[in-house]
Amino acid sequence: MIPLFLSVALCLASPHQSVISNTSITYVKESYIYPADSISILVKYHGYDEEEALQTFRILQRASTAARVYLVSEKMSVSECKQLAIDIYDLKYEDINNRGITAFFNWDDKSFDRVFALYDSILSPPGRSSIFITASEKFDRNGLSEEKRKEVLSHEIMHYWQDRTCNTSHDIESQAVRFGRYIRDKI
Ligand SMILES: [Zn+2]
Repeated sequence: MIPLFLSVALCLASPHQSVISNTSITYVKESYIYPADSISILVKYHGYDEEEALQTFRILQRASTAARVYLVSEKMSVSECKQLAIDIYDLKYEDINNRGITAFFNWDDKSFDRVFALYDSILSPPGRSSIFITASEKFDRNGLSEEKRKEVLSHEIMHYWQDRTCNTSHDIESQAVRFGRYIRDKI
């Protein structure tokens, strides 16, 4: 009993550090995105190489701008209740679905058993949020096509904006699904 308890406690203490140390992340780059006038958001990419980092920043920039417009179109306020930097972790599909690595995620509570991506701000360091996403097929044989990666990143960035604006009392999952499908061909 005791060893099990200890390992769970350690896991909860630094869930995202354990992701980094247990996966193939080798490259880190920081940049800012500017989704609207007077809003700048620090994004830290953890993944493969500079080209992929820059492509990821481009998608986040465009999807963030569009997500705010989308919230307004659905009669929701975009006034911010918190400010959050973003850590984005590019993981292999098998790693993101390895429950030893993503042990912080409440898998038991979900109706699905495989995911392409996860969003979290509860277990992230203060003032930060985290997006875990399946890597491009360039880096992972089970990875995402460029189009699918745009859809999945947009889905997760919608969760980010729902969180940042405290718009969380509606069906946040269906809104993120709709937004990802709507925007993937436009960014
Ligand atoms: Zn979702």
